[in-house]
Parts: sequence; C-alpha cells; structure tokens
Amino acid sequence: MVRSPAICPVCRAEGSLEAHGYYERDTTDDDGVVLQFQVRRFRCRHCRKTVSCLPRFAQPYRVVNSNTIGAYFSGQRTGRGIERNTARLERYWQRFAEWAVQLSNAISLSPGPAPPTEPLALWHVLRTIGRGLGQCTLGFVRDFGVTFFGAYICHRRPALA
Ligand SMILES: [Zn+2]
Repeated sequence: MVRSPAICPVCRAEGSLEAHGYYERDTTDDDGVVLQFQVRRFRCRHCRKTVSCLPRFAQPYRVVNSNTIGAYFSGQRTGRGIERNTARLERYWQRFAEWAVQLSNAISLSPGPAPPTEPLALWHVLRTIGRGLGQCTLGFVRDFGVTFFGAYICHRRPALA
C-alpha cells in the first residue's frame, strides 16, 4: 500500500492527490532478469494531473534497476545483473555523459560548491550523496525536476529504454 504524497508535485496543492489506479512497469532484478511490477498512480483534484510514485529500485524511463546502474557507473563489470544488460548500461552511461553539464547546472542550485561537469567526476560526487542512485533520484526529481538521464516529466507515461 502506497500512501498518497502530501503535496502535488505539479501544482503544490496540499492534500489534493487521490488514488487513480496503477500502471505496469518493467524493471530488472539483481540477476538482470526483467520483471513486472505495479506503480500506484494518483490524480490531483486541483490541477487534474496524474502523478505516480516510482519505488527507488526503479529508474524513471529506464528498465535496468537503480543498484545495477550505480554499480556499472562505479566501474563494476561483472555479475549477472550487469552482464545481461551491458548494452543498455553502456547507453545509459552515454546518456548520463551527454546530460552531465545540464544536470550539474540543475543541481548547483543547492548549497555548497558547484558540482563538476565532467561525467566521471560528477558521478563520483553524486554517488557519495544520499543513499545510492535510487534515493538520489527521488531527491533530484522532487527538488529539481531532473533524473540522472534528463528532465523528469512526472505526468507522462514513461517509455522504457
Ligand atoms: Zn496538482
């Protein structure tokens, strides 16, 4: 059971979200096998947008799970979860590298020194904040409207890469 968020992420109205069904999504397990799970959706009574609450093990718009992506980005190249999804993970890294400057700019609104824009340096900073890529993504989406791979459009039904 997923509780509805207190504040609508689109219009910031309080207590306006009501349950609005589910949608099916894919993600990989630790062995890299694709599984389906259900994501709870909510609709805002105020702005009428639908929003969903993705669990932190899954990435928006990406089928490979957060831990596997984080391990690959940190240099791990073995393990079934990685070996079964190497081509996808290479594309994810390419996408992250292309997005790194914009991502750095987007999150530099937070206090402290500006994060690096070089992709590997940026990753090594990001991996140390929060508790892994999944947790970090939740904060980025909530605070800056971005993920590790692009802008986050929260009411769009995600297409998986
Ligand atoms: Zn709203």
